[in-house]
Amino acid sequence: MHGFIRPGAGWIEVITGPMFSGKSEELIRRLRRAAIARQRLQVFKPVLDDRYANGEVVSHSRWRIPSETVERSEEIISALDPRTDVVGIDEAQFFDDGLPGVCRHLADLGKRVIVAGLDMDYRGVPFGPMPELLAIAEQVQKITAICARCGAPASYTQRLVGSSEQVVVGAAGVYEARCRRCHEPDGAVEGEERWLIPPPDPAEAPE
Ligand code: ADP
Ligand code: ZN
Repeated sequence: MHGFIRPGAGWIEVITGPMFSGKSEELIRRLRRAAIARQRLQVFKPVLDDRYANGEVVSHSRWRIPSETVERSEEIISALDPRTDVVGIDEAQFFDDGLPGVCRHLADLGKRVIVAGLDMDYRGVPFGPMPELLAIAEQVQKITAICARCGAPASYTQRLVGSSEQVVVGAAGVYEARCRRCHEPDGAVEGEERWLIPPPDPAEAPE
């Protein structure tokens, strides 16, 4: 099972959704199961993400698994142990455009590649290398969080600007999960309840 390259036997799985949707938890869950099955793991995250820990992938619910930190996607190839069966990658949206090619290469080598990352940034714009990864993956799981405003399934990440200590959530209160109706792409305005206001008249839209 391990220890040798199985050409063509690899594949790419992507776990995506907004912040707090449980992407890291799901990645860690899959990696733990692989470890229980005595498969060899390597886990990578980009240097930009220093959430809670260095050398570990940590979920907002404090699940954790050891990881290697790399600056560029090609470093995953140079750090690869040929005996590795499963490669986990977290915060994939922060990697460079080379990441889809790296994942394809790993899968071609016979590795199971499990990638977790944000599909959209806080404006709702597709994030970094994620669109291409979603296109080339064999399997995609898009998951939701709970909208912090209304409780509906949330697919967007809200950036909270001008927020005070009243707002206490993960990621230092800078972001929260929101549904489409409650999401404000330009940043939340404190005290405003925009979801109660009808959509603006396009004729009145600012230039
Ligand atoms: P992601 O990697 O997608 O940012 P994590 O796996 O790090 O998500 O964290 C998911 C956990 O975040 C949930 O299990 C829950 O404990 C917590 N959480 C905080 N805010 C929310 C929310 N609005 N909706 C769902 N879970 C939330
Ligand atoms: Zn909502």
